[in-house]
Amino acid sequence: MSEKIPSLDVSPDPVKVHEPQMMDLYAKREKIHARSISGFFQNLRNASLTITMAAFFLLPWLNWDGRQAVLFNLPERHFYIFWWTFLPQDFFFLSWLFIIAAFTLFAVTVFAGRVWCGYTCPQTVWTKVFMWIEEKAEGNRNARMRLDKAPMSVGKFLRRTVKHTGWVIVALATGLAFIGYFTPVRDIWHQIITGTLDFWMGFWMLFFTLATYLNAGWMREQICLHVCPYGRFQSVMFDSDTLIISYDHHRGESRGSRKRGTTGAENGLGDCIDCGMCVQVCPTGIDIRDGLQFECIQCAACIDACDSVMDQMGYERGLVRYTTENLLEKKGDGKYHFLRPRLIGYTAALLIMVSALLFALITRVPLSIEALRDRGQLYRETTEGLIENSYTLKIQNKAQKDGRYLIEASAPDLTLEIAGGPREIALAAGELATVPLTLVADPADISKPSLPIVIRVRQIDGGGAEADTDNTFLSPR
Ligand code: SF4
Ligand code: SF4
Repeated sequence: MSEKIPSLDVSPDPVKVHEPQMMDLYAKREKIHARSISGFFQNLRNASLTITMAAFFLLPWLNWDGRQAVLFNLPERHFYIFWWTFLPQDFFFLSWLFIIAAFTLFAVTVFAGRVWCGYTCPQTVWTKVFMWIEEKAEGNRNARMRLDKAPMSVGKFLRRTVKHTGWVIVALATGLAFIGYFTPVRDIWHQIITGTLDFWMGFWMLFFTLATYLNAGWMREQICLHVCPYGRFQSVMFDSDTLIISYDHHRGESRGSRKRGTTGAENGLGDCIDCGMCVQVCPTGIDIRDGLQFECIQCAACIDACDSVMDQMGYERGLVRYTTENLLEKKGDGKYHFLRPRLIGYTAALLIMVSALLFALITRVPLSIEALRDRGQLYRETTEGLIENSYTLKIQNKAQKDGRYLIEASAPDLTLEIAGGPREIALAAGELATVPLTLVADPADISKPSLPIVIRVRQIDGGGAEADTDNTFLSPR
């Protein structure tokens, strides 16, 4: 996947960007032909890419307890994540999850900068796959640049066709996998094979196919630079001990080409041979030697490129490396400070939130009950002289298995009898039932016009789930 680093005796593609330059803010976007590179960090990225993509494509196929393990069933408003079933009223769990994800991102950014962007962000991962297809179809960086400039020919047309076909296949697979999180994936494939694919499912599949094709194929770094908000505010989270990818200008300057086998000092130069390799491999087209820039997605391609150059020159690696501002500029005590107040604060907040969420999930009762009083009549006197109150119950089985439940009502210092509505109810997994409930009490036992009561629903087939709700019992007294 990587291209051979050319001879370094003469700078092959000098990029003289270290002088201040004028920029036209309305200039046409120049296509970036990033040179592919291999190395330790690119191997890490490839491993991360494989894990991320495998998880994305395989998760919808995983079954759990007889159904799809991860399924956000929007029409039925049931969200399944392994052993949990979430309903719309559990939405706060989702909000909580988003807050935890945000804090995780803050903590990771304070510690190691934009590692999310460089190693796991779907935009980066899919773009890397699309760039790989592009290289297979159109050749290495120089070949692609030549092809771009060449007039249309049979060869160019064929290469372009192979590239776009590859992109469309990956984009289509992505669109298909994506809708598999919202509709059972096996049903989708059955519908596709039998030619009965639902219109809206087809629409969303094509929508995500097109979004993937455009984002990873055409827009690439433009999404990072102009669409993603994270790149804009990440620098606020950085401190002088955050790990960032930097060019060591103390060691590298003054830059300049020289004969292989000679040291910088012998030529009156620093260690940077000004080969421009770090710029050529950069997917966002920036020069790391200009310092930390918001365009840098911390993909570490420039580290691998520069390390391979240093190896060929016989120089020590690490001219471009992960470091911190304090270490690079030799500020303070010149040591790396792992524990710092902001990181401790984020991590502590994160631990508290994750523990609270886990506790809430583990102790979550898979059953809910709501009781609404009959609005038409506060109470009624029966022919037997008893006082009667009516309610409407909404009972939901939030478990993933069917269950049988007993309905009960009680009040301190008052004997309540169920005079109307079911005593027992059977509910399918996830089912919400609305049932009437009529309670009666002897007026001789009633001490006040409004008495607190508890309506309880209890699982009686071994599940052990129990939920209750408070209400009132009204009478003429
Ligand atoms: S400057 Fe280096 S780390 Fe940043 S995006 Fe470019 S190649 Fe990746
Ligand atoms: S920093 Fe490294 S890769 Fe970049 S121009 Fe200098 S020697 Fe070449």
